[in-house]
Amino acid sequence: MGKVDVIIIGAGLSGLAAGIRLSQFGSRVRIFDKQRYAGGMNSYYRRGDRVYDVGLHAMTNYSLERSSPLSVMLRQLRIRRDELELVPQRHSRVLFVDVDLEFDNDFETFRGSVSRSFPGDLAAFDRFVARIREDDSFNPALGFESTRAVMRDAGLSVELSEMLLCPVMYYGSSWPDDMDFHQYCVLFTSMFLEGLCRPADGMESLIGVLTRRFSENGGELSLGSAVRSIELSDGRVSGVVDSSGGFHGCDVVLSCAGYPETLDLLHRQYARDMVGELGFTESLFELSRPACDFGLADSIVFYNGSSSFSYGVPAEGVELSSYVLCVPGNFPGVRESGGVPSIRMTALASPEYWKGLSGEDYKKAKTTFLRDELNILESKYPGISQAVVSSEAFTPRTIERYTGRLNGAVYGSPVKMKDGVTDIPGLLICGTDQGFLGIVGSMLSGIVVVNRHLMT
Ligand SMILES: Cc1cc2nc3c(=O)[nH]c(=O)nc-3n(C[C@H](O)[C@H](O)[C@H](O)COP(=O)(O)OP(=O)(O)OC[C@H]3O[C@@H](n4cnc5c(N)ncnc54)[C@H](O)[C@@H]3O)c2cc1C
Repeated sequence: MGKVDVIIIGAGLSGLAAGIRLSQFGSRVRIFDKQRYAGGMNSYYRRGDRVYDVGLHAMTNYSLERSSPLSVMLRQLRIRRDELELVPQRHSRVLFVDVDLEFDNDFETFRGSVSRSFPGDLAAFDRFVARIREDDSFNPALGFESTRAVMRDAGLSVELSEMLLCPVMYYGSSWPDDMDFHQYCVLFTSMFLEGLCRPADGMESLIGVLTRRFSENGGELSLGSAVRSIELSDGRVSGVVDSSGGFHGCDVVLSCAGYPETLDLLHRQYARDMVGELGFTESLFELSRPACDFGLADSIVFYNGSSSFSYGVPAEGVELSSYVLCVPGNFPGVRESGGVPSIRMTALASPEYWKGLSGEDYKKAKTTFLRDELNILESKYPGISQAVVSSEAFTPRTIERYTGRLNGAVYGSPVKMKDGVTDIPGLLICGTDQGFLGIVGSMLSGIVVVNRHLMT
């Protein structure tokens, strides 16, 4: 194959968005992905006549405002919003032992809930939200600022602070215990101020829109083809070698494979402390009856079993004192594959533990934790375990195997390359390790890196 302008490593959501943006302005772009399906960590798979999402809970940034990040992003990709068929959440909940905060896509619901559960905190909450709205979060020059410290400055009580950290950390912190405030602002805004939604038919339809647009623009998508190495000539990028040993020349390589993972393709080495340590398990329970029949009517539940929230690598395989539940059927308008209702459950997991187990022990450990999760569901929603018709689980090991993301660290390296530039001329990073996370975040990342560095 001939030389192209840009090679993108990874047809994850950031790589696809970057590819569309570049190709619509005439750049010759080739995307490689080691997987047969595009979508990376948020892809889908087929089994029989059913299509399963790998992990989709919700898309963020639902807001219909013309100036909202999702609207701007879709305009930049020349995709109409109705092509995505996004359906908003019904309502969701942050649930600690004896207090809960309800939210939906109207921020006043959340504020009202704070005011009822923490009346003494409302002024501090308003101050904190004002600080979030003012933050210059997308400025790549800003370094790490502790969210816990900002919460203290705003005068939030410890208990409310923990409840405000829990959902945001679960949906995007690559740091244990605390989180960069600028990143917190991006995620808080995208979840609570702009709202949650899902594509009505899951990720296949969204990814289909993206891959079609890329191909229509003349982009080349090479699925099932891994990049084995990035090649240099006179110190700058000259191309990549694919898994069959073929060389593909280009002027620029844009990688969404992760920063340490990209360094590995370049030098065969990376610093261990660049690899994210936080992992998750993701379980799927299929039901014979909808979850709301058992009292589970929320779209998403962020649960924590004590008044303080601990976010870190568990000592054992999985930590079930906190978890996230997603009920796709509680997004009115969602069409679940085969019409089968389901529940998803996400919990913090230790990559080291799961990667260290031998084949049989690995299977046993999965069975044990699925049983523990089912017991938890039964204790909260009596009768639900009888309705479970099948279950399956992904661990950090699964995620590493399928996406190449070291440790299966969903939120990537704690070292973020905020401007997307590396030390190597012609090598750029986008997606998770550029710093924007999640489905919408990673797509924005692809666009921002292209706009900033490749739209000359
Ligand atoms: C189980 C799970 C559930 C999630 N749920 C949600 C959710 O509900 N909402 C949300 O907003 N976000 C969710 N996320 C997070 C979201 O999926 C990610 O933030 C986002 O998809 C990251 O996209 P990316 O482009 O940065 O990277 P990735 O998706 O990791 O894409 C990288 C791509 O590069 C490919 N690749 C790697 N190495 C090579 C190589 N050498 N050659 C060729 N290709 C290579 C990989 O196969 C992969 O396709 C979830 C993630 C997981 C794992």
